[in-house]
Amino acid sequence: QIKEKEYKIVILGAGGVGKSSITLQLVQNKFIEDQYDPTIEDIFKKELFFQNNYYSLNILDTAGQSEYSQLRENYMKLGQGFLFVYSIESRTSFLELLSHYQQLLRAKNFPQEKSEKALNQSIPIVVVGNKSDLDYEREVTYDEGINIAKNFGDFPFLETSAKSNINILKAFEILIKQIDSNVENSTTT
Ligand code: GDP
Ligand code: MG
Repeated sequence: QIKEKEYKIVILGAGGVGKSSITLQLVQNKFIEDQYDPTIEDIFKKELFFQNNYYSLNILDTAGQSEYSQLRENYMKLGQGFLFVYSIESRTSFLELLSHYQQLLRAKNFPQEKSEKALNQSIPIVVVGNKSDLDYEREVTYDEGINIAKNFGDFPFLETSAKSNINILKAFEILIKQIDSNVENSTTT
């Protein structure tokens, strides 16, 4: 008997970086050039078979401000894995990751004095630089992406394109791996 693992995933990042596009590409294999309503926040379901397991993902595609709100704090508390998205053609969106990250640490009551290694083991995060197809408009280098993920807590990083469907599935698979090992840690210790 194979058991399905159900994971709650939250997609965070500035407006316009492609959070909804990434979600739509994963869930429906579609890309729509027009901007979706940037204020719509919704949950999507995706079933995946990966590494001999069935996964049922509940993906929250967030919208709106990076400012504090009770709602935001609640879903950060409940989320089991987080995709941090910026756009490689927007330095502003890259810099905005920090405030999302700090909010998440607060929501998870993560103590400041813990090491990056401990952080990596307690909150599953993957950092994603989206719109990699827009290389000619690039404002953030690949190395800067690697470094921010490393500084946050030794998290995986990859560049994606929701438009060209590059690394979208892979980003979620890596996140699933992070959640898997997090769940193992918390049940065996
Ligand atoms: P959100 O506000 O983070 O949900 O961003 P959206 O998914 O609504 O995308 C904002 C805009 O960027 C839309 O016009 C998308 O078509 C476009 N976009 C999203 N992902 C990509 C990508 O990978 N490449 C390119 N070239 N455009 C993208
Ligand atoms: Mg959106």
